Amino acid sequence: MNKSSTRCVRVPGPVIVGAGPSGLAVAACLKERGVPSTVIERSNCIASLWQLKTYDRLRLHLPNQFCELPLLGFPTEFPTYPTKQQFIDYLKKYADKFDVRPRFNETVSQAEFDQVLGFWRVRTVGPKVEETEYVCRCLVVATGENAEAVVPDIEGMEEFGGDIRHTSLYKSGEEFTGKRVLVVGCGNSGMEVCLDLCNHRAKPSLVVRDTVHILPREMLGKSTFGLSMWLLKWLPMRVVDRLLLILSRLTLGDTARLGLKRPQLGPLELKNMSGKTPVLDVGTLAKIKSGDIKVCSGVKRLKRHSVEFFNGKTDNFDAIILATGYKSNVPSWLKEGNMFSEKDGLPRKPFPNGWKGECGLYAVGFTKRGILGASMDAKRIAEDIERCWKAEAFYGLC
Ligand SMILES: Cc1cc2nc3c(=O)[nH]c(=O)nc-3n(C[C@H](O)[C@H](O)[C@H](O)COP(=O)(O)OP(=O)(O)OC[C@H]3O[C@@H](n4cnc5c(N)ncnc54)[C@H](O)[C@@H]3O)c2cc1C
Repeated sequence: MNKSSTRCVRVPGPVIVGAGPSGLAVAACLKERGVPSTVIERSNCIASLWQLKTYDRLRLHLPNQFCELPLLGFPTEFPTYPTKQQFIDYLKKYADKFDVRPRFNETVSQAEFDQVLGFWRVRTVGPKVEETEYVCRCLVVATGENAEAVVPDIEGMEEFGGDIRHTSLYKSGEEFTGKRVLVVGCGNSGMEVCLDLCNHRAKPSLVVRDTVHILPREMLGKSTFGLSMWLLKWLPMRVVDRLLLILSRLTLGDTARLGLKRPQLGPLELKNMSGKTPVLDVGTLAKIKSGDIKVCSGVKRLKRHSVEFFNGKTDNFDAIILATGYKSNVPSWLKEGNMFSEKDGLPRKPFPNGWKGECGLYAVGFTKRGILGASMDAKRIAEDIERCWKAEAFYGLC
């Protein structure tokens, strides 16, 4: 594209890239402090992950009090685990209340700090490939830990012949009734998709390659997450982990006997060190116990409508669902070498210090702590930007 056709727009306040829960939270907190912002979103709606890329039966994995954004609680009639639609309705109400109006269908293709000008240059591409360059003092990265689907390169994929899709394209087990479906990946999504397939009378098998912590969603009449947070106030993490594992064993039995071996580190310690989230069981384990869901070892290669596993077995399947997760896309568009790691696209500084970089650069929602972490980031970022905004207004820079 010809450079001269790029539109240049100088915006007051920061540019926020991404209109998911994190971007909305920063925009709302800034609005509350009287600071304007410009939110840029590549898709045609807010919360595109939730609206466009999640399955129908999804509910919040964590209880509602841990998933509220700053300044607006959930309606009192919401259940403990709101449905995906309830959460989306809440986010729409949130955007309306704080008058957050993202520029939709614009993808940020590059952002770079101009050392001479002292401003960020944020370049976007619109639906008709037209380019815009936004010039701003601060840049807030809110593109999320789940920006791009991770699709593994499995030998024989082109040979398989059946449907192979990532969970971001899976809506319901309805279309798989009667079919043999292999689900690759045993995180929260993989486990729940298996359950959904079962409920729609499909025949799912689950590939379990690594060790995994499965915990009941509730323990002792409380949410496992809430109970863990409470126990951590009084006890060291290792002790809380021991308690969680004892209670899980009593409720779920020995998961290793079902082919789901536990990691050496406890669930909270592992989460803290690697970001790997324990699976909160919503009924899948019972289906594994009853034999409705089969557990398989790693996939070696695909053949015509069949799968060869690392343990030497081969089985026939009609479809494969890849519950293989997501990754950040920040390194593909942010030209900056300090704050974000090139390797995983996440801030280099560990939680809770990853939210602030240099030259007015901020990150929200990269804490591996879901919406709770994003809300903490958003409040800090808004407070920091307000300080600069006021100082700059004082010196007439805005
Ligand atoms: C199935 C599933 C269930 C989950 N359940 C929970 C839960 O119960 N509780 C919880 O706390 N967390 C949960 N999470 C984690 C959840 O992803 C986050 O809490 C939340 O969606 C993160 O919000 P975000 O705004 O940081 O990222 P996202 O929701 O991913 O939003 C980022 C936005 O940035 C946009 N974007 C990306 N790149 C660009 C670009 N280059 N230019 C312009 N726009 C761009 C995207 O289109 C997207 O709209 C779940 C995640 C998944 C996948």
